[in-house]
Amino acid sequence: MLTESTIHLYILKIGFNVNIGQEILELLKEEVTESEFNRYIRQLQYDVKKSTPELAIFYAPNALVLNWIKNKYTDKIAHLFEVKSHNKVTVQIALKNTIDKRKKVKAVEVKHGNSLLNPSHSFSNFMVGGSNQFAYAAVKSVSENAGRVYNPLFLYGGVGLGKTHLMQSAGNVFQNEGKVVIYTTVEQFLNDFTRSIRNNTMERFREKYRTCDVLLIDDIQFLSNKEGIQEELFHTFEALKGDGKQIIFTADKHPKKIAGLEARLQSRFEWGLVADIQPPELETKIAIIEKKCEINKVVLSKDIVNYIATVIDSNVREIEGILSKLHAYSQLMHVDIDIEFTKNVLKDQIAEKRENLTMDSITQVVAKDLNIKPSEIKSKGRSKNIVYARRIAIFICRELTQNTMPQLAQYFGMKDHTAISHTIKKINSLIVDDEDFKVKIDELSNKLTNIT
Ligand code: ADP
Ligand code: MG
Repeated sequence: MLTESTIHLYILKIGFNVNIGQEILELLKEEVTESEFNRYIRQLQYDVKKSTPELAIFYAPNALVLNWIKNKYTDKIAHLFEVKSHNKVTVQIALKNTIDKRKKVKAVEVKHGNSLLNPSHSFSNFMVGGSNQFAYAAVKSVSENAGRVYNPLFLYGGVGLGKTHLMQSAGNVFQNEGKVVIYTTVEQFLNDFTRSIRNNTMERFREKYRTCDVLLIDDIQFLSNKEGIQEELFHTFEALKGDGKQIIFTADKHPKKIAGLEARLQSRFEWGLVADIQPPELETKIAIIEKKCEINKVVLSKDIVNYIATVIDSNVREIEGILSKLHAYSQLMHVDIDIEFTKNVLKDQIAEKRENLTMDSITQVVAKDLNIKPSEIKSKGRSKNIVYARRIAIFICRELTQNTMPQLAQYFGMKDHTAISHTIKKINSLIVDDEDFKVKIDELSNKLTNIT
């Protein structure tokens, strides 16, 4: 039997393959001429032992190869790592003999954060629904009118809701138009800044950030209480904005809610357009899962897609982890992925909160989701949406709490336990006949039993 830990190991293995460095070099083969490949890239050696998921170390046999790779291909190598391992990887290239002699490693560290755009972040791969359509439309419009519509554009929303994806989608459009695009996180911007101060290269730093065509800065909330970098960003902003260059920011919250920001910077964040992204609704989650399956060449039945959509909360990033687990399994066992296994895989994801569930908490969650009042669910109202909500609430209370039929009847204002048992029979037949109804029940049940 395939255990969780075997799968985990397998994922680690395919994720951070011992030969990943070699694989990356093979991929580079496609991008260079044969003689370039043989003269330079083939000479690189990947250090399996010292490299980590965040740091890839290669050795070059001499300074010529080192400089050539450093100037032309470190960004590309870092990028391929990121695409393959989904990790931000710093690439170091060092001279082989300096390492062998155990001298201080004079590694050439290349910060790839700037202008590194993940090409799979595109508008066409981004699934749009009510939760993100405003942000999507704003970014799309900016991508078609750089510097002319919303400048700056400020995107905000919770973790894993697609802010970086959207921002980079615009970045990719600009880059394909030949614009100089800098993508950086606040952290990388800060590192670059402090390094420039240390190395006395502020002039170069300023030239880089103030003369690009498009500046994308991710995770602005990390500016909080960091005065020096805020001032630098303020002047960078003024220079770019003055030249009509497009700037896009993201953060996990509205600029007003980010503490420890200089007032002048905070106000500039709101000069253009501030757009929020909300957690995806069920249909959007389903569309995203289907898209990710397509991209990752994973085939899942509709049942399983729906199930995953109901289990994951809102962080879309979880989807990729789940798919890679399922994919690993199907590869290992040469079998199709079935619902039982999916449930097994997702077991970890689901925390049992059943003990804490009460009829009140269930009714509240159902009411909120369906946009009616809890009191209406408990009323004798016969309108279609109230009956629908009440059925769902009763069914979930029956499934997830220890309450008896008479207790349910009393709580939901029904005559007696036969009325409840009749309702439950009705619901059971609906679950078989009405796919949407079943999905809704699953979604809400999972929501109630998930850690949020
Ligand atoms: P954030 O920056 O908001 O934390 P990301 O942009 O990194 O989130 O998104 C996390 C993952 O979810 C990425 O793999 C991204 O491609 C994916 N994702 C998020 N929203 C969508 C969407 N609407 N359609 C397709 N993929 C999405
Ligand atoms: Mg992000």
